[in-house]
Amino acid sequence: NNPLLRVENVSKTFRVQGKKLHAIENVSFTLEAGKTLGLVGESGSGKSTLGRMVLRLLESDKGKIFFEDVELSKANKEKLRAMRRDMQIIFQDPKASLSPRMTVGDAIEDAMAIHKIGTKVSRHERVIELLERVGLPSEVQYAYPHELSGGQLQRVGIARALSLNPKLLICDEPVSALDVSIQVQVIQLLKDLQKEFNLTYIFISHNLAVVEYLSDEIAVLYLGEVVEQAPADELFKKPTHPYTQVLLNSILKIPDSVEQKQQMVSIQGEVPSPLNPPSGCTFHPRCSFASDVCMAVKPERKIVSEGHSAVCHLVE
Ligand code: SF4
Ligand code: MG
Repeated sequence: NNPLLRVENVSKTFRVQGKKLHAIENVSFTLEAGKTLGLVGESGSGKSTLGRMVLRLLESDKGKIFFEDVELSKANKEKLRAMRRDMQIIFQDPKASLSPRMTVGDAIEDAMAIHKIGTKVSRHERVIELLERVGLPSEVQYAYPHELSGGQLQRVGIARALSLNPKLLICDEPVSALDVSIQVQVIQLLKDLQKEFNLTYIFISHNLAVVEYLSDEIAVLYLGEVVEQAPADELFKKPTHPYTQVLLNSILKIPDSVEQKQQMVSIQGEVPSPLNPPSGCTFHPRCSFASDVCMAVKPERKIVSEGHSAVCHLVE
């Protein structure tokens, strides 16, 4: 059973202000059909860059990405066209990818028409079917984006992605802009759809609590590097990298007083500029376990247990 997606030692550097910015460094993972990889990290950690490379909206500088055993950079035109349909993305702000002057029904139909799926009549039937499947009444087809709430718009975005029968869905912070109660509904919807259509997800979020429910595997990104990677339950049971521990602590403790809030383990300091990353372990300025060796020597990836790795000097 070959994985649907295989990412091997992928790196991406940008030139910014005459300097090299390592947006993604040596990232590898595999993802089987029907599974979810959660990509977690603060803003600027490279999560979206990685998502865009998988979609081939960005070329990697180094490394290889395989989709169904075809290397993305070597795919011929025909295969690329199929891949464009097979891999879809939903964004934090669905409005940004919907025309304000087109009804959402037309927008979904348009996506299918571009990929030459069905006839005008069958596409229209499919629009109604999809809207209902994502929990929207069929009248919503006549609405313009500004007439819908954030949660409804995200459902439209999901319906449009589904209209192309994708295999892989990249969900880039899809619930971050929504109220918590709506977040739960959209995550539940994504989970149901995954089961029904055997969808494979890359679920990108800055919030570990959000990815927990969906993810089979979690990769924690810090300044473009996967600092810890493990099956989801293992990561929650045995968080090993100090950064993962801090991310976890910040979601497990729900403070009900100001004093408790101040006692909460918080991540000290800001994310350092990726243009000027710290020496040694790039997490050292914010790590409460940092020692001299951390400042001087970049840690290597160590195996914690099978399928679980972390990049930290503390791992034996
Ligand atoms: Fe902290 Fe050192 Fe581990 Fe980096 S290598 S995470 S600074 S203990
Ligand atoms: Mg982003």
